[in-house]
Amino acid sequence: MLDADFFHRWMTATAGLVDREAARLTELDSAIGDADHGSNLQRGFAAVSAALAKEPPRTPGAVLALAGRQLISTVGGASGPLYGTLLRRTGKALGDAAAVSPADLARALGEGVAAVAQLGGAQAGDKTMLDALLPGVEALGTSFAAGRDAAAAGAEATVPLRARKGRASYLGERSEGHQDPGATSAALLIAALAEADG
Ligand code: ADP
Ligand code: MG
Ligand code: MG
Repeated sequence: MLDADFFHRWMTATAGLVDREAARLTELDSAIGDADHGSNLQRGFAAVSAALAKEPPRTPGAVLALAGRQLISTVGGASGPLYGTLLRRTGKALGDAAAVSPADLARALGEGVAAVAQLGGAQAGDKTMLDALLPGVEALGTSFAAGRDAAAAGAEATVPLRARKGRASYLGERSEGHQDPGATSAALLIAALAEADG
């Protein structure tokens, strides 16, 4: 079972991976966006880590609710409200249980991803974070490692796509040939689950 400590570790592992990959995320965003994705998420997940350390929530749902609120209030870009919604909706789906199963988490994340799709109006193949989240969360039903691998493959598969949502869509066909920054960071979020579990 996964308790509040596991969810806390998931968020701090995400912050660590975002720190490590920040330059790459920003570089990807400089090709098809405004070169701030790495710094946006670094600021956001640093705030998440700080808030969790200050007053550690007692349930998985409360950890994700706090993390989501921090992302919404500290990340200026499009990704803040989208990741914030992902975590808040996932947390809401987990309710106030003290611990949840991996299957519960996979189901709850499915609801969170659906909320992201609704908020941003994107679907699979639009070259957004959803292209990593959808296959990654689907594969979490098998294992965290399977989720990590599927999310990474989904992010890589955005390279040839033309962006249909977000800032990159303004480039039209010039968005082709570059990996989507948000799909790349979404793969880090899923990879952090496997790290928190290890
Ligand atoms: P901004 O574009 O405002 O600078 P970021 O650079 O932080 O924000 O995030 C850009 C990422 O957000 C994109 O690479 C994409 O994955 C994701 N994104 C943008 N718009 C949407 C949307 N409507 N639905 C899903 N994801 C989106
Ligand atoms: Mg940007
Ligand atoms: Mg921006």
